[in-house]
Amino acid sequence: MQTIRGFRDILPEHISLWQKVEKEAKDLFEAFGFKEIRIPIIEKTHLFARSIGEVTDIVEKEMYTFADRKGDKLTLRPEATASIVRSYIQHKMYAADPVRKFFMIGPMFRRERPQKGRYRQFYQIDAEVFGIESAYIDSQMIFLLNELFKRLGLTGLSAHINSLGCPDCRPDFQKALLDFLESKKDRLCENCLRRMDKNPLRIIDCKATDCQEALQDAPATLDYLCNECEDHFATVKTTLEHQGVDFIVDKSLVRGLDYYTRTAWEIQTTALGAQSAVAGGGRYDGLVKELGGPQTPGIGFAIGFDRLVEVMEQIDKTPQIPGLDLFIVSLGDAAMEKGYHWSCELNQAGIRTEIDFRAKSMKALMKRANKFNAQYVLIAGENELTQNAIILRNMNTKEQVLLAVETLVPELIKILKK
Ligand code: AMP
Repeated sequence: MQTIRGFRDILPEHISLWQKVEKEAKDLFEAFGFKEIRIPIIEKTHLFARSIGEVTDIVEKEMYTFADRKGDKLTLRPEATASIVRSYIQHKMYAADPVRKFFMIGPMFRRERPQKGRYRQFYQIDAEVFGIESAYIDSQMIFLLNELFKRLGLTGLSAHINSLGCPDCRPDFQKALLDFLESKKDRLCENCLRRMDKNPLRIIDCKATDCQEALQDAPATLDYLCNECEDHFATVKTTLEHQGVDFIVDKSLVRGLDYYTRTAWEIQTTALGAQSAVAGGGRYDGLVKELGGPQTPGIGFAIGFDRLVEVMEQIDKTPQIPGLDLFIVSLGDAAMEKGYHWSCELNQAGIRTEIDFRAKSMKALMKRANKFNAQYVLIAGENELTQNAIILRNMNTKEQVLLAVETLVPELIKILKK
């Protein structure tokens, strides 16, 4: 039996970086006032089609969609924003206080062609903020991402930012784009030609080389921003500059989802070849209303957890499972019984203790203690029990002390918790 294509196990020897990232992210989110939310892995297909957009790569080609036994069309979530917006509306969270900040960490599913840094089940660290119109929150989201990557020791990342405008200025841009595309029609792929009627903005995302070349001088949203959008973007940029966050204004960044308005950004790395985006985000001021809630601004980002860990693995090539505090070598039935109880009590006290229940030789058990990288080894054989002198050996200094059975556990806790 094998995992299905694009799906993978993350084995214990790789988990330490995942846990490190999770811990740093949670600490940082909490300091910035974000609360954790957990949302279902499956939603009605309609939710994603409506929010991400019918004419997008994700909805057209990549979703895992199926009919359940009653024929309802369901989809494994390809991203988190839609579900969090659904939750915000469903629980009328806006009524008590429209300003809410959430984060979630979990798997997403997209049926893309698997390659390094691209999987069909992948993990995202996601953050969303509702109810804040001010451009300061846009800067703060980018600042937060930057701070997290800094804490994780990542360098060589660049923040690409753009403004996609709003429903007031988008139509002018769309018209200019359509006029331009009309003149390049013979060079566009079939997919793009089909999108010209339905969703011309998505043509800018097309990965086909011919289309990319044809689009080199295409009009940019930045040249068509209304005054409000321009002011908003200017504040984002100056705030980031004041905070010392490096960024590049990237006119061609449009992101692959329909709901974005105004600020959009991506954090890119050169470390992963073609899959250069480690995080992406943007503002979505129309989405809450589009999905049936009151007009509420929103903004969010998603970090590609798998990619982030891959970049970190390139820096820290020796992720390790932490060693044991204590390995118990029990020789003989009586010592095994005692050893079993000691190990449970020590585990209860938070001390990483292992015992091998198989009857094995001293030599074999010491070998095992070394394999686990144990700091201390407790040696209990028949002799040690009769003499009431159990041996505790410090594996680094090779020093040994003798411990009495009656006070063994509290003594060990004292020594090992130092
Ligand atoms: P998106 O929701 O497409 O903006 O994606 C946000 C981030 O998730 C990207 O910047 C990637 O780092 C990551 N990501 C997206 N798709 C995949 C995938 N198929 N495999 C691994 N990571 C992904």
